[in-house]
Amino acid sequence: MISMKKYIDKAENYILKTYNRYPVVLDRGDGVYLYDLDGKKYLDFAAGIAVFALGYGNQEYNDALKAQIDKILHTSNLYYNQPAIEAAEKIVESSGMKKVFFTNSGTEAIEGALKVARKYAYNKDASKEYEIIAMNHSFHGRSQGALSVTGNSKYQAGFVPKDCVAVFADFNNLEDVKSKITDKTCGIICEVVQGEGGIYPADPEFLKGLRALCDEHDILLIFDEVQCGMGRCGSLYAHDLYGVKPDVMALAKALGCGVPVGAFVVGEKADGALVPGDHGTTYGGNPFATAAVSKVFDLFEKLNLVDHVNEIGAYLSEKLDELTVKYDCIKEHRGIGLMHGLECEMPVAPVITKAMDKGLIIINAGANILRFVPPLVIEKEHVDEMIQILDEVFAELS
Ligand SMILES: *Cc1c(COP(=O)(O)O)cnc(C)c1O
Repeated sequence: MISMKKYIDKAENYILKTYNRYPVVLDRGDGVYLYDLDGKKYLDFAAGIAVFALGYGNQEYNDALKAQIDKILHTSNLYYNQPAIEAAEKIVESSGMKKVFFTNSGTEAIEGALKVARKYAYNKDASKEYEIIAMNHSFHGRSQGALSVTGNSKYQAGFVPKDCVAVFADFNNLEDVKSKITDKTCGIICEVVQGEGGIYPADPEFLKGLRALCDEHDILLIFDEVQCGMGRCGSLYAHDLYGVKPDVMALAKALGCGVPVGAFVVGEKADGALVPGDHGTTYGGNPFATAAVSKVFDLFEKLNLVDHVNEIGAYLSEKLDELTVKYDCIKEHRGIGLMHGLECEMPVAPVITKAMDKGLIIINAGANILRFVPPLVIEKEHVDEMIQILDEVFAELS
């Protein structure tokens, strides 16, 4: 058998180096555990970055995908296909929104959402060049449009020309957003819980205020639920916790639980902004990807996953609070449902490396923040196992 080291050397020869990867080759998964090529077992608290909500190897999910492969993998958006129709129905019925456009990723869902906001304004007055208001410390993806609204110079620098960059305001600062609105503003985009930016939940008053501002100015409110949606925060969509409806919502990550798929979903006001010819995709909404989406919705319901997130999320929160009290190097614990962050006084890279040595996969959200986005099917015993490893790691590092 070729050793992990040989594969890693090969990877560095052939795969473009846009990541500093951890030196493991992951091979297979089982439940909430991953195994590398050498057979080492890891408890997974990253879930492929908030993707694998159902954990690994859910038989019903796997069977549905296998059956779809045997039937048909891909058609095209020039025709209808059954899985896409069923998946769209489940999204619309569960969100109370109106229509769905399927994409292949989160960043493409954001591209579509931004196009909807621009087109909505353009349809009213085609003479102006429109602007989007986005939040500082946001993350919306790596394509050019999504980068233009990503409020972090680390990601933007060198890629987005200055005049293509959005107007930025401070997250959870309604007055700041208000002061940035002009007659050129066509939409406001924000995450309901900022993910990459460091796990910051929105204040209820902030989201309510954004809704009122968008209504007052007849512009579109876009919620990026790519990371915080799909049950992660203890309701199917994070905005449900706040009772604030967006005009456009972007989904991805856990939407397909491993199959690459995203969506933007429009509400009543935004429905009709895009017309035939305005947007398209070759792969988006293909029967394989949408069979996954459809099964994900069925399994969320069957497993009562949202209730489970609330139960386990409360337990995880309590345990992370205890850890925060115990170690001076942990500054703050933030989070909701099964989306949590521990802000530390120092960079967390050594914590992550040590945790991996001890068989725990965990990720960061910014240099000093540990991020907890486990599969939604984790149980209390897995939380205990994770906490025990982290406790050891912090004890060794303090
Ligand atoms: C991951 C993420 C994206 C981008 O999704 P990709 O599938 O990586 O393109 C967009 N928004 C948020 C909030 C994300 O967490």
